[in-house]
Amino acid sequence: MRAALLTGQRQIEIADVPEPELLPGSVLVEIERCGISGSDVVAWQTGDLPAPAWFGHEWVGRVAQVGEGSSDRFEGERVVGGVPAPCGRCQPCRSGMGSICQMVLSMIVGTDERSAGHGAFAERIRVDSRRVHRLPEGVDGPMGALAEPAAVAAHAVRRAQPSLGDVVLVVGTGTIGLLVAELARLAGASRVVAVDTEESRRELACSLGADAAFAPGEDLVRWLAVQGHGLGADLVFDCAGGSAALETGLSAARYGATVVLVGFTAAEAMMSADQTLRRELTVIGSLGYSVADVHRALDLMADERYRVDELVSHTVGFSDLSEAFLELSQPLGIRSSPTANRPKVLFNPTLT
Ligand SMILES: [Zn+2]
Repeated sequence: MRAALLTGQRQIEIADVPEPELLPGSVLVEIERCGISGSDVVAWQTGDLPAPAWFGHEWVGRVAQVGEGSSDRFEGERVVGGVPAPCGRCQPCRSGMGSICQMVLSMIVGTDERSAGHGAFAERIRVDSRRVHRLPEGVDGPMGALAEPAAVAAHAVRRAQPSLGDVVLVVGTGTIGLLVAELARLAGASRVVAVDTEESRRELACSLGADAAFAPGEDLVRWLAVQGHGLGADLVFDCAGGSAALETGLSAARYGATVVLVGFTAAEAMMSADQTLRRELTVIGSLGYSVADVHRALDLMADERYRVDELVSHTVGFSDLSEAFLELSQPLGIRSSPTANRPKVLFNPTLT
């Protein structure tokens, strides 16, 4: 069986690997598509992986075999990779924060005992049956590969709890930023504005329903002065990460605004405690997603309440995978984080 393995910094090897062994409680999935995520690109750039199964985690496929003791009978069904229900025992769980359950996080990054020795840039993968979710009617196969980033976006919006009529600012128009913009509208925002330095991404944001999109600067300030009744944004999602993006978001936030941190950044991003206090800002961190986020993201996708097909730029096979990583790693706009403005490229193992 073929699998694309990350073997070092900027090194992908297309290897013949043994068929994954079906373990009790696991399923074998024939991969149909796997999205290249921002964190995959960072792993490719650095050569650092938490576990081999992390490299290629936004997948959709069909269940080929079900192991003994699986949580459900999924034979022949089209599924996406997600997360299991929280363990209920770790410290976050005992604090009522199941969405950052340590067992759940270990499954996301592929360090749990049933994880395969490779990710889903492969023909087949073994996965713990508890983290497999059925694709609902109405979501076609390729779009299922967007379920994972859509769940991350749903988690951020649910954490933020938008109010009816909120003016929402999304900084960074990567896949997750664009999905956050769409979902914030569904959650009650009256105005949604996106910020990015890359014009093509701003155009995409507007075609997906943002009211406006700007490069950082005066145009954004003027727009918010009119649409935000001279106050600014009620809710800011930083989906880019890094100092410049955070500063853009904070400077546009009204007094009493909520600021949600979604985009990872390896660099320090400074936030003034004094300004946060004086402006009574609420700052929320948003990490990963829960089972409920997966289900809600998929159900809304099935009902065509938001669009994901336009997020996909193109699809590659094994032979073009390295080239796709090279292209995605080129500097482009507000791209200080894995979730910044990269186009979404899908992998299809049946392509050469
Ligand atoms: Zn837990």
